[in-house]
Amino acid sequence: VYLNSRMVSDFKWYLMVEQEEAEGEKKILNTFWVNIVLGLMVIVVILVIANLTLGRYQRKLEVMASKDKLTGATNRQMFEEYFSHSLQNAESSATPVSVILLDIDYFKSVNDNFGHSIGDLVIKTVANIIRRQLRSEDIVCRWGGEEFLLLLPNIDLSHAADMAERIRESIAERKISVNEHEIGITVSSGVAQYKLGESRADLINRVDVALYQAKDRGRDQVVLSH
Ligand code: GH3
Ligand code: MG
Ligand code: MG
Repeated sequence: VYLNSRMVSDFKWYLMVEQEEAEGEKKILNTFWVNIVLGLMVIVVILVIANLTLGRYQRKLEVMASKDKLTGATNRQMFEEYFSHSLQNAESSATPVSVILLDIDYFKSVNDNFGHSIGDLVIKTVANIIRRQLRSEDIVCRWGGEEFLLLLPNIDLSHAADMAERIRESIAERKISVNEHEIGITVSSGVAQYKLGESRADLINRVDVALYQAKDRGRDQVVLSH
């Protein structure tokens, strides 16, 4: 009950009037609802901003955890997952899967002659050339310093060999300009097709032996593991 009271001094009376329409209450309620709505709007804006920021941060972390920083190629840890998944798939659906292990020839001399950062640029360029030759389902992994492991689902040995040859040619053709020098580089590759029942380690070992043979036979070539 709202009462308006006033002292009537002449009579020393208090005059009290009951108010039915409480103007004050209306004002307070209005302010209250405006505050609630503004508060909710601020909360929504903060949640949207936090969500966008966290999402971007999360995507950055995911990329950092799965990609090599220099080349953008898949890192070894992430590759292991793709690799086992791909081999399982090959087992269950009896489809081929092949790998190429590729290593830059005499890379140490690039570093020695032109410096480490030019060496980095060469590694990056090789990764880009490789990517251009691959399909979207193929995976390029930076296996070691100047070594890349390529995972090619649904590709048999002879097609993988063609791919390795195409990559070899396009890298040999490409000259990287540094100051007044032109750096020509070559790569050697081993190629192997997964054999049903074979372990991952055995497959990697086979392709590694093939790469070693390519180096041994004079580099700038592709060797198959049958
Ligand atoms: P080969 O033809 O037998 O492969 O000879 P190579 O000189 O390429 O082989 P080696 O393994 O002796 O040298 C590889 C060099 O790659 C050694 C190392 O300093 C360099 N390296 C490894 N990782 C990086 C990198 O991220 N950046 C740069 N610039 N150099 C790297
Ligand atoms: Mg090398
Ligand atoms: Mg090497």
